[in-house]
Amino acid sequence: MSYDLIVIGSGPGGYVCAVKAAQLGLKVAVVEKRATYGGTCLNIGCIPSKALLHASERFDEVGHLGALGVKVGPAELDLPAMLAHKDATVKSNVDGVAYLFKKNKIDGIIGTGRILATGKVEVTKADGATEVLETKAIVIATGSDSAPLPGVTIDETRVVTSTGALELSSVPKKLIVVGAGVIGLELGSVWRRLGAEVTVVEFLDRILPGMDGEVVKQFQRMLQKQGIAFRLGTKVTSVDASGESLKVSVEPVKEGGSAEVLDADVVLVAIGRRPYTEGLGLAEAGVALDERRRVKVDAHYQTNVPGIYAIGDVIAGPMLAHKAEDEGVALAEILAGQAGHVNYGAIPAVVYTNPEIASVGATEEELKAAGIDYKIGKFPFSANGRARAMLQTEGFVKILSDAKTDRVLGGHIVGTGAGEMIHEIVVLMEFAGSAEDLGRTTHAHPTMSESVKEAALAAWTKPIHM
Ligand SMILES: Cc1cc2nc3c(=O)[nH]c(=O)nc-3n(C[C@H](O)[C@H](O)[C@H](O)COP(=O)(O)OP(=O)(O)OC[C@H]3O[C@@H](n4cnc5c(N)ncnc54)[C@H](O)[C@@H]3O)c2cc1C
Repeated sequence: MSYDLIVIGSGPGGYVCAVKAAQLGLKVAVVEKRATYGGTCLNIGCIPSKALLHASERFDEVGHLGALGVKVGPAELDLPAMLAHKDATVKSNVDGVAYLFKKNKIDGIIGTGRILATGKVEVTKADGATEVLETKAIVIATGSDSAPLPGVTIDETRVVTSTGALELSSVPKKLIVVGAGVIGLELGSVWRRLGAEVTVVEFLDRILPGMDGEVVKQFQRMLQKQGIAFRLGTKVTSVDASGESLKVSVEPVKEGGSAEVLDADVVLVAIGRRPYTEGLGLAEAGVALDERRRVKVDAHYQTNVPGIYAIGDVIAGPMLAHKAEDEGVALAEILAGQAGHVNYGAIPAVVYTNPEIASVGATEEELKAAGIDYKIGKFPFSANGRARAMLQTEGFVKILSDAKTDRVLGGHIVGTGAGEMIHEIVVLMEFAGSAEDLGRTTHAHPTMSESVKEAALAAWTKPIHM
């Protein structure tokens, strides 16, 4: 069989690229080594984690309904039912991708893909049978996997990555999360709400590196109020799993402090993700990698080998599903002779804890480092009527604008619904809008989003309600 395009990997990058390419008239096949389509995101990432985040948030909320005049008894956890909800959510999403393949006449092939040369992909099926497919273009969309922690052996039962942390069969008494990035904090929050005592150990002296420092500082206090403990500037040197309880050796990153051993029932290693290119035959095909073993591409997602392209987690940039998706669309357009493009300056990032953090564009630290003269507009949810009615007054909106032109350069929100509210700032930035543009835009009352408008007003001139 000969194709216009073979995509290796069916995650958000791969399947979206395939669908868009098929919509544009190309003959497409997708090769996926997992039994179901949808990649990390749908099977063991974004989607199952959000199912558990939502369910555990509702579980936790029950204890706080009294203040709204709703009397209920203590919530009772049915963990198997919660996990079944997660599994059903995954199934409906991965089935959705299979449906999209059928609808767009894309050949979905379950098997492991290996690039033999430009235009040739070998597929090895589960029974060992192989087949060679011919194609005009190949897209590498093989994503990423969890980065290992030297000296720590993962068993996915007691010493787990995010994959095991989505499957725990009981609530651990003590959970140690190694790494205060998005995945560690999200999954730590899930198990904290369900009753675990959670300690986050982080090498750096701050959580969520890369996010706006002021937002993160307040957010850490909120998590501490929820009972999550932090050990910052601390490294895990080993995990001894020989006894009934795990013995986690930690020591300060700075010299001079003393080492300690912490007890845990479960350790979640969430120190980051690394590009996944194993077994793809890249070296033999001559495809170059960068210093972090990511596939090197040019501005049109082409590798150094003509006809071989790459998108998503396996190339440089934030490891986010929507970044992979948009690269998939852009590349499909380029392959169909159109002008595909991704605006990397306006890619939102969301931490789906409670409350959420959402951000887009530059942080204050980045603007300072770049020597850009900026204005800050801030508005707290405590001054927002809807937030008060919902007892969701924690957090604030922060908008950063260019002091000379008023153009919005960054937006940061910590608070309930931040992940939905951020998009008006994303659209504004996509169209190079100003704080005045946003401040003059009518927002429905009463909504949490009015705080975004007020923050824009604060950056431009003055807010009304403060
Ligand atoms: C717990 C967790 C939560 C996350 N939550 C979010 C979130 O809320 N929002 C967000 O934006 N991002 C989130 N992410 C990140 C997101 O999952 C990734 O950014 C996204 O999946 C990357 O998409 P991709 O298409 O590049 O690769 P992937 O989704 O990793 O898909 C790659 C696919 O390629 C397949 N593959 C690999 N090698 C081969 C081969 N040789 N042959 C055939 N198939 C192959 C793999 O089996 C896999 O299915 C989360 C990640 C994790 C782990």
